[in-house]
Amino acid sequence: MAKWGMVIDITKCNACYSCFIACKDEYWDNDYPPYSAAQPRHGQFWIRIEKKEGGTYPHIRVSYMPIPCMQCDAAPCIKAAKNGAVYKRPDGIVIINPEKAVGQRQIVDACPYGTIFWNEEKQLPQKCNFCVQRLEDGKIPRCVQACPSKAMIFSDLDDPESEVSKLVGSGKAEVFHPEYNTKPRVYYIGLERVTKNFLAASVVFGDVDECAEKVKATLVNKQSGEEKTALTDAYGVFEFTGLSAGRYSLKLEYAGYAEKTMDVDLKADNYLGAVNLNRG
Ligand code: SF4
Ligand code: SF4
Repeated sequence: MAKWGMVIDITKCNACYSCFIACKDEYWDNDYPPYSAAQPRHGQFWIRIEKKEGGTYPHIRVSYMPIPCMQCDAAPCIKAAKNGAVYKRPDGIVIINPEKAVGQRQIVDACPYGTIFWNEEKQLPQKCNFCVQRLEDGKIPRCVQACPSKAMIFSDLDDPESEVSKLVGSGKAEVFHPEYNTKPRVYYIGLERVTKNFLAASVVFGDVDECAEKVKATLVNKQSGEEKTALTDAYGVFEFTGLSAGRYSLKLEYAGYAEKTMDVDLKADNYLGAVNLNRG
């Protein structure tokens, strides 16, 4: 039996909402007993798209992160449910039984990822289940099928040759909030775009007012001592990515120009703007 897993590539998602619309089309007004009751027309986002926008003009980065149920192997929602109303199938999919879960609002609050929604009319908690009714017909989840950017990959985690297995095994795909210890089956590529920060600037040779190409930028984390280096491009721009919030020391060097150092208190994505280097 397959053990289903999903990889979502944040670097490819452009927030077209095709996955959300496909999900709505699959579940609105459609019951799939014994796995799910119909999704209401409004108010539920079984796959929601979160947005992170950082930096300042002209150096801005916008990233989108689709968040479905993570199909956790150590799922708090299962523990919170009474009467076995939430259970994990042998293929790894977590199901909320639409009959047994009626009235169990505590199941909504148990999910640390906020992926369960309360159906007021039915008094029922509801969420994504990887389109289990389609899997049983040999099809893939509607969201994966609908994504025009191929940002969502779905396959068998037990098959070492599957794309998901290879991405997870290579370390390119990682789980969101590993500190929750829920052992998700949904992994992300490019997670640092959402969970970490960038630092960038445009370096200018002050004497000629030209973009300063190939300036060496050295960034040191004052707490850990970790050091990173980068060279400015043809537009004088350097960028460090994957940075934790904290205090950094930045040094800019180019032969014939005075070395420039500055302290940076990084709290979020930060574009420092134009930084002049003057003749030494
Ligand atoms: S993401 Fe939330 S709803 Fe999904 S299995 Fe994990 S705890 Fe349960
Ligand atoms: S369909 Fe694909 S590109 Fe569009 S929002 Fe969903 S994951 Fe992103």
